[in-house]
Amino acid sequence: MASFGMQATCFDCIMSGNESEWLPLTESNLYVWRCRRGHHQSVSFRNPRFDLLFEVAIHALVDGYPRECISSSAAALERFYEFALRVMLHADGAATSERRIFEEVWPQLRSSSERQLGAFISVWASEFGSAPRTLDEKVVKTRNDVIHKGKLASRSEAESFAQDVLDVIFANYVLLEQRKAQQIEATKDAALDQEMKGLQSSSITRRGTHDYATVFRRLLHSPDETVTRSIERIEKMAETRRLAN
Ligand SMILES: [Zn+2]
Repeated sequence: MASFGMQATCFDCIMSGNESEWLPLTESNLYVWRCRRGHHQSVSFRNPRFDLLFEVAIHALVDGYPRECISSSAAALERFYEFALRVMLHADGAATSERRIFEEVWPQLRSSSERQLGAFISVWASEFGSAPRTLDEKVVKTRNDVIHKGKLASRSEAESFAQDVLDVIFANYVLLEQRKAQQIEATKDAALDQEMKGLQSSSITRRGTHDYATVFRRLLHSPDETVTRSIERIEKMAETRRLAN
């Protein structure tokens, strides 16, 4: 098993023997926990939902569930379209009022992935003057067969599907980052700020915020990262942990 979760480290105990705990992935990017010595702390992650869903997809493949890899990759791509829309509608210098544009249009897009894709393509074309990269029709068919027809995909089909999704997300993200780096950061911060508001407990002594080292984040720093290499790395790590226990 190579289940994906958050490895949280207690900052108070780190000097006296690396106290850490594995926290299962939740809907929130904010994790509140107590170490075994009772230090109460929070750790939050700035990774957008698409990034975490793609990580779940890779772990599903490592764990032997190609079908779940395809459905999570497909969900990651849809959430990337949402993320890109948020970023593009988050205009310079007018954070508050412009963010409202997204909030106003999203309710009309929320329930239909086709509408979301249409909005993404249109807003992107208006922003960049050309169409964004999207999945080929053949690849979309694989997704539909898996999600709507219950197809049991093979490992190699899932690996290839995940790579296609990663290529689409990465190609668009790089362009988005070149033009909208500040808005990307603001969009990530806004999502977390919302979660932090609910964190009122004064007994929390340490608060940490990180970008979790996912497959997608690795790719941003080393362009030769692929789905196959990620799988090999995760399998090796799981094997090392298994031998250590
Ligand atoms: Zn501690």
